[in-house]
Amino acid sequence: MIENMKEDILEKYLRAGEILSKVRGEAKDKIKIGVSLLEIAEFVEKRSIELGADGSAFPCNISRNDEAAHATPKAADETVFGEDIVKLDIGVHVDGYIADSAITVDLTGKHRDLVKASEDALYAAIDSVKSGVTTAELGAVIEDTIIGHGFKPIINLTGHGVARYIAHTHPSIPNRRIDHGYTLQTGEVIAIEPFATDGIGKIADGSWSEIFSVIGKKPVRLPAARELLKEIEPYRMLPFAKRWLKTEKLDFALMQLAKAGIITSYPVLKEVSGGLVSQAEHTLVVTEDGCKVTTL
Ligand code: MN
Ligand code: MN
Repeated sequence: MIENMKEDILEKYLRAGEILSKVRGEAKDKIKIGVSLLEIAEFVEKRSIELGADGSAFPCNISRNDEAAHATPKAADETVFGEDIVKLDIGVHVDGYIADSAITVDLTGKHRDLVKASEDALYAAIDSVKSGVTTAELGAVIEDTIIGHGFKPIINLTGHGVARYIAHTHPSIPNRRIDHGYTLQTGEVIAIEPFATDGIGKIADGSWSEIFSVIGKKPVRLPAARELLKEIEPYRMLPFAKRWLKTEKLDFALMQLAKAGIITSYPVLKEVSGGLVSQAEHTLVVTEDGCKVTTL
């Protein structure tokens, strides 16, 4: 029982989390040098459904090295893992209730401390969560932990609230000290995701996008755009991957919907100084005296 949250809703959050952690563990074991990124992404997305999820909350993100987030394979992508620092970020939902979790797999074998920096920051933040704690306090804990390991937090990436069929919502959970935080309350669901880097600690948009989501509703006339709009309808406002789509003249249709303000793209996010990036993330429900992590 968690105050402010109906029992059946909590159950769905917990089931989404359970499915995610099983898929995450299985996928982690498959990430090896020479394995294709597309194979891992497709495994994650199919296996979630097999285990009872109603869908992905967003495309499986596989970001490597100086990529922090929002990388996902293209259709027929032949890229394979090399000596990479791999961020595997998974989202699943049960009836729209989302679990969001990420791990870093170090295929170089040389950056255990960078991986540990974001993991320790995540667990330090989780230990601090309870009703009444502010996001400013969490940001300070995350920053101090990462700096204590000799790295920098990525200051323009944050954790976030989740809501039904909404992968990112208020409040944002900073990865650094801020002046005025938001006070967390029992029953709120948040994802905490520290990013650590040996670079300067900032990301910027890269040059390619494979992930999109609907941001508005408007009628469209062009047949290709109409076809695409119909195809992406089941995802509601959740992000989807270009490789999931079968609409003909796909690039043209995506461009039309973007121009009309119906969809937006999520370019791959890269550390601006080319630093290596690690990430760790869990989703949790805030309780009176702590929290219930759904994705452990
Ligand atoms: Mn995530
Ligand atoms: Mn997240």
